Amino acid sequence: MKEVDLTCVQCPLGCKIKVKMDDAGVVLDILGNRCNRGKEYAMQEVVDPKRVIPTNVKVLNGVDELVSVKTTNPVPKRLMWEIMNIIKETTVEAPVKIGQVIIKDILKTGADIVATREVEKVNK
Ligand code: SF4
Repeated sequence: MKEVDLTCVQCPLGCKIKVKMDDAGVVLDILGNRCNRGKEYAMQEVVDPKRVIPTNVKVLNGVDELVSVKTTNPVPKRLMWEIMNIIKETTVEAPVKIGQVIIKDILKTGADIVATREVEKVNK
């Protein structure tokens, strides 16, 4: 039997959740959650955890060389390095607007990579 301790991040209460699993990783019990959202979060965390990825993309002809970006939804942690490698090879032409989609549906996760700030075009 295996136990995993988690802190639920679905609301500010931050419930301490314990997930009990058998040796094959089958979830036997989830304790400490005050609501069903916490149960779903805990199940997702032990089966296929997801995260929002915040990072930067290179900008061409901008007043800054980089623009901060993030995924619009949490994406599977197991795809993190593959996603980071795609983002590393990506460039965007200035001007960049907040919320601008830089990469649509990255790796078919349903999440877009969007700019989280503006970068103006450089005046030459
Ligand atoms: S289990 Fe429910 S109440 Fe507790 S932190 Fe998660 S969402 Fe909030």
